[in-house]
Amino acid sequence: SADGSAGGQDEKIFVSVRLRPLNEKELVQNDVADWECINNTTIMFKHAMPDRSLFPTAYTFDRVFGTDASTKKVYDEAAKEVTLCVVNGMNASIFAYGQTSSGKTYTMSGVTEFAVADIYDYMDKHHEREFVLKFSAMEIYNEAVKDLLCPDSGPLRLLDDPERGTVVEKLTEVAVTDVDHLLELISFCYSQRQVGETALNETSSRSHQILRLTIESSARVLSSTEKTSTLSATVNFIDLAGSERASQTRSTGTRLKEGSHINRSLLTLGTVIRKLSKGRNGHVPYRDSKLTRILQNSLGGNARTAIICTMSPARSHVEQSRNTLLFASCAK
Ligand code: ADP
Ligand code: MG
Repeated sequence: SADGSAGGQDEKIFVSVRLRPLNEKELVQNDVADWECINNTTIMFKHAMPDRSLFPTAYTFDRVFGTDASTKKVYDEAAKEVTLCVVNGMNASIFAYGQTSSGKTYTMSGVTEFAVADIYDYMDKHHEREFVLKFSAMEIYNEAVKDLLCPDSGPLRLLDDPERGTVVEKLTEVAVTDVDHLLELISFCYSQRQVGETALNETSSRSHQILRLTIESSARVLSSTEKTSTLSATVNFIDLAGSERASQTRSTGTRLKEGSHINRSLLTLGTVIRKLSKGRNGHVPYRDSKLTRILQNSLGGNARTAIICTMSPARSHVEQSRNTLLFASCAK
């Protein structure tokens, strides 16, 4: 929100924060909830801490959601408008950002379902246009792109197409037949990611999942003299790698070459978002990572972006929560 106004989802980058309740593990360890949403836009650190570096204690965003907010509410107030841009021919990206176990998947899986329902609702109400939906899904792990709809295929290459920009070569794109078909495809992708998690330790905390829906629409031709106009746009639902991957790398500098601590895509996304939020002047390093190359057409320019930052209220996570809030502050 470059002009400082909070609230409107019409802003280019809409930044919200969702605080989850303390979980079982945190409760068992007698952990304390340190954060509280004091109104619709401000989240506050409740307790005085000896470490003064934790100040400021209050952070303001376009929208904040407390522990009692439902995912429907989060969707309605922080993602719906951005999502529905896609039916009007504008590209959009909805991100979940936060440390592992902060609620990214919980939030993004729900948001995606509500988005699908709304998109179908819109299409049902606009019979004057004809819609064609295509779905694809990717996972980026250690800068390798995997086709989530064809999990056994090898890593996919990115190609530069003079007209379409960066294209993921051989990525499966499924023509969606109806809403149930789309929900089935989405749940297949989530289950694939779960498989990866057990096969390879911590995969999901280190990988990015991109679910991508492309919608083409054209006016139904009523007479042969009438001209059709075709709109085409893409909406991306992105469940990011755990943000501790970015801050670990930053805080330990020397570890940059150590595979397990690199997350080039997450670091580059942070840089790209910061540059975009500060205006469109200067070089935006989209090409520095797979994630930002793939999303280039849906980030910046006329595209719309919503970032939902998820965080734990627990004192034991205060360092990571603060990092998340700093990221969110840079994005607005
Ligand atoms: P992440 O994807 O960021 O690693 P998850 O979405 O898997 O985190 O959430 C971790 C756990 O916390 C899950 O068991 C999830 O159901 C729970 N959880 C997350 N957010 C909420 C919330 N807002 N309300 C209730 N439970 C939540
Ligand atoms: Mg997750």
